[in-house]
Amino acid sequence: MKYVILGNGILGLSTAFRLTQRISSSDSIVLVGPNDRTGCATLAAAAMLNSFGEISAHSLKTDHDLYHFELSHLATRRWPDFEKELIAAAGNHLPHPCSKCQVLSGGCFDRGTFIINNTVSDEWDDRNFEAILQALKDFDEPYEMVNPRDIPNYMPAQRARALRALYIHNEGWLNPRIVIEKMDAILANSERVTRVDNKVLRLERSGDNIVAAHLENGDRVEGDRYLLACGSPTKEILKQSALGLPIQPLFYGVGVSLEIKSPDRPHKKCVRTPNRGGACGIYSTPFFLGPDKPNDHILVGASNRILSEPLFHGQLAATEHLMASAINEINEYFYAAQLIRVNVGWRPTTQDTYPLLGATSVKNLAIATGTKRDGFHLSPVISDYMASILMGESVDERFAMFTPEREIVRDISREDAVDTLVSSKLSEYYQHGFVPSGVMMVNKLKEQFRREAEELHDQVGAKDWGIPAELATMYQYGHAQID
Ligand SMILES: Cc1cc2nc3c(=O)[nH]c(=O)nc-3n(C[C@H](O)[C@H](O)[C@H](O)COP(=O)(O)OP(=O)(O)OC[C@H]3O[C@@H](n4cnc5c(N)ncnc54)[C@H](O)[C@@H]3O)c2cc1C
Repeated sequence: MKYVILGNGILGLSTAFRLTQRISSSDSIVLVGPNDRTGCATLAAAAMLNSFGEISAHSLKTDHDLYHFELSHLATRRWPDFEKELIAAAGNHLPHPCSKCQVLSGGCFDRGTFIINNTVSDEWDDRNFEAILQALKDFDEPYEMVNPRDIPNYMPAQRARALRALYIHNEGWLNPRIVIEKMDAILANSERVTRVDNKVLRLERSGDNIVAAHLENGDRVEGDRYLLACGSPTKEILKQSALGLPIQPLFYGVGVSLEIKSPDRPHKKCVRTPNRGGACGIYSTPFFLGPDKPNDHILVGASNRILSEPLFHGQLAATEHLMASAINEINEYFYAAQLIRVNVGWRPTTQDTYPLLGATSVKNLAIATGTKRDGFHLSPVISDYMASILMGESVDERFAMFTPEREIVRDISREDAVDTLVSSKLSEYYQHGFVPSGVMMVNKLKEQFRREAEELHDQVGAKDWGIPAELATMYQYGHAQID
């Protein structure tokens, strides 16, 4: 059996890795993806391993969301073993930064996330913070309330200081660049894997099967089973392939993160706000470089702008906002930090915000994308299931909830969607320095946002379902699929 994996981000690589562990000696894998990885979301990720940290006020109300959360929670528990497996598989080819890694010490993997609740934005932060707290209690997850003053390396501007904070013991982070380097090394040294530094243009279908992937350099890659995992550009490949599959629109969630160097104020733990209007709030995680290097790099994230076309460079507003927020809300001394790198990645975001994962009606084609903001975290679980699907084995039947050809999931009530839209928009305004002249002004603005949100719902026929807040502009500008 010849497996063709298209895409070299975390999902393509981790699935290829799982296959190397399971396939027989006569099987082979071809992995196609450009070495430069332009727009690769994985390289821009923090990469936080957050489940509870990602919860917001209207989360966990529906079957899809609960199952998604279950997979995310499972991923939290699987990461330590997954990392061990990667280290073992890399053997002598372990990249230098991993040389002293003991999984939870001496490497890029660590745990401990502080969620701060400050007043820089507005009450939407409080509601999301309370939702996280409630979920931690409901699911019996270890956490503790902490005095914000006790958070290591947390030195916000006085007016941006948090009055409450909590600590989640089991939610951590990794350096995604080191993880990718390790997976690259494993696959480059596997006799059964052939790497192709190129891009897929389209898939060729004959009858019920894909017979080849056509590459930019004119080559055709033939195989028996195909996995399409190219992140947001998967959308273009599907379009060019004209396979006739009813797959919902996929967008580019353009996100910027910043790698900074802060020699006098290094981080030991992840410090973040809850999710906020439009994005995941402000966060900062230690960014490990290697055992013999000072631990003084920090990743600050992240912006999110959903577009129908890619942006190749970070926008000034996003970069400026992240820098200012990190200084104001996390540590004032970051004013002296050095800006090492501006990462730009495309979060693959579907119209219903759930991932596209699983087999398709083309017999030998599976798809894995649409993971939006937690694909890195979910990869130990997704790769396990996707490898099984490619090998014709069965997986948890609920995984079919994310089948790529599903109808668009409309599981948010109109009421919740309008509330989230209004709250997110106002939160976004406050994050960007909005100072109202009085409470009546805010109320007027809220009324206006509510009216606009209701009108948008009416325009697209959303009578008994709601538009996900981050997708509103795609509905507004006609990029969303309307029945
Ligand atoms: C700023 C930012 C912060 C984030 N933070 C986190 C976080 O803290 N935790 C978390 O879990 N997730 C986070 N995410 C989300 C996470 O990065 C994604 O969900 C995940 O990386 C998606 O992985 P992927 O392999 O599907 O896509 P990608 O990582 O985008 O990889 C796709 C790969 O396919 C390649 N490719 C593109 N076109 C072609 C083609 N035509 N042919 C072949 N190959 C192609 C690309 O070069 C790329 O390498 C973040 C994302 C961003 C942008």
